[in-house]
Amino acid sequence: MTETASSKSAGSHRLVIRNIGLLLSGGLEEPILDADTVLSVDGRIVSVGKEKDTDTGNATTIIDAHGTALSPGFIDSHVHPVAGDWTPRQNQLGWIDSYMHGGVTTMISAGEVHTPGRPKDVVGLKAMAICAQRSFHAFRPGGVKIHAGAPVIEHGMVEDDFRELAAAGVTMLGEVGLGGVKDGKTARQMVAWARKYGIQSTIHTGGPSIPGSSLIDKDIVLETDADVIGHINGGHTALPDDQITALCEKSSRALEIVHNGNERAALLTLRTAKELNQLSRVILGTDSPAGSGVQPLGILRMISMLASLGEVPAEVAICFATGNTAKIRNLDSGLIAPGRAANFVLLDKAQHSSGKDLLESIQLGDLPGIGMVIIDGVVSAQRSRNTPPATRVPEIVRA
Ligand SMILES: [Zn+2]
Repeated sequence: MTETASSKSAGSHRLVIRNIGLLLSGGLEEPILDADTVLSVDGRIVSVGKEKDTDTGNATTIIDAHGTALSPGFIDSHVHPVAGDWTPRQNQLGWIDSYMHGGVTTMISAGEVHTPGRPKDVVGLKAMAICAQRSFHAFRPGGVKIHAGAPVIEHGMVEDDFRELAAAGVTMLGEVGLGGVKDGKTARQMVAWARKYGIQSTIHTGGPSIPGSSLIDKDIVLETDADVIGHINGGHTALPDDQITALCEKSSRALEIVHNGNERAALLTLRTAKELNQLSRVILGTDSPAGSGVQPLGILRMISMLASLGEVPAEVAICFATGNTAKIRNLDSGLIAPGRAANFVLLDKAQHSSGKDLLESIQLGDLPGIGMVIIDGVVSAQRSRNTPPATRVPEIVRA
């Protein structure tokens, strides 16, 4: 409950959110915190606690949560952005802003692979990645933070290419396997070079997602040893059950479950991770835009699906889409804790849900209603235009 003198200096933006009915931390260690008030200054959380212990003076913005739940903004670990808020996959505009109305405040690109005429020569793919990193850093539809600029490895790349990409600000590879490199030996070498320069990697897992992509089986995934086992439940075509359980058991890398995958395989992954006592490896993405469209509520739908059918508490399923992903992706968001980015979703059970409260409504498989989305301490949306209506919604009492 302490804060530095500098955070109280004149001109700083102080956001107080009070009357929080349920504080979802995003952290598996303690998914629910005994707190009702959050203070952020200039887009960073400063304190989380009881209102009587919080210095709420000089607030620039005050939000009365009216008893609703506060969660970290959701992180979509697997998207395929192209340019601005347009996707050529379904020729749709405004998709990222629409995801923000589904509670997504951060997105991770798994490669800008839908770019029309995508260059596959080494100079071209590097240039495209650097351009995507720059443009999405500077342009945030709906305020969403998009970590993009994820090159797809191709034959002919050498160690110096990865050094150069890292120096230019590239922090992750696109899905290994979507380019020409599909053998474990070459992929392993390139992933190791990437890792050496601080670039994280994800591998496509399972059958081909669209004509032109190909099968990546468990042996290739294990040999490549990328940081994230991308869509372990297939995208859409999943590996056989024994290969999925082998990936969970033989690798220690992140297990990414996606909306646009096989739901049965998603539940198998979750069950196996739970048996291994390794739920901290589970992260969620949509793998969209895709052949099945864009899914503004994709992350919420996965939280409800995993909680209702996968027998994990709703507050734990929320950690998969927040704190787990932040830790694995080295992000400064995803947790309600001092020092973290002030990215919040305020939600309540949807009107007429049979659940008695938010968590029970998710446990029963219903989607919650979102009443507000805040990114970097700034309100991006009030009542969501995409979720079912929340029973209670927060209110801005001082703007
Ligand atoms: Zn894929």
